[in-house]
Amino acid sequence: MRAAFPDFRLGNVLATSFTGTLSERHGDAVERIPVPHRLVDWLAVNGLAVDSCTAAQLDRARELREAIHAAATAAATQDALPVSAVQVINDCSAQGRAAAILTPDGERRWRLGSASCVEDALGVIAADAISIIAGERDGKLALCASPTCRAAFFDTSQSRTRKWCDMNTCGNRQKKARFNANQRKKPGSVE
Ligand SMILES: [Zn+2]
Repeated sequence: MRAAFPDFRLGNVLATSFTGTLSERHGDAVERIPVPHRLVDWLAVNGLAVDSCTAAQLDRARELREAIHAAATAAATQDALPVSAVQVINDCSAQGRAAAILTPDGERRWRLGSASCVEDALGVIAADAISIIAGERDGKLALCASPTCRAAFFDTSQSRTRKWCDMNTCGNRQKKARFNANQRKKPGSVE
């Protein structure tokens, strides 16, 4: 029987989708890449297919993930970037040997140095994090308004007023809580 693992939350920004593999950091944290093969699955879904992943590579991936989370959180709150996090991101970026490839259909694909090279995939994720933290892309880093989440996300909405890392999870939960509170407040309500 196959063990069930938590689903992935998919966003359209690679670096913050990756930090989203650990969610509810300030509540009951959910680890969405608990074993090496779930990292392999996540990378495949995100266009960075690798053949295999070792326990050490998973550790390195999680180290990069937490470094991106720390640096993106600091950037969102306009604090100084943590030196150790910057170091991890830069090391991962420098170690990657992925190449951007233009397909005949005009799409970008990543070609990794070798099929088992998780490091190459991490290099792509680190470079993506650098581009958003450095403010090179159209959008703004912000923190999710949910107190149990506080995930850093990249707001590309026109007004830059997005409050939730994910409308389907944190946003929805908040909407439901507000709805229930309003129901309770209604005069004459028996409940
Ligand atoms: Zn959230």
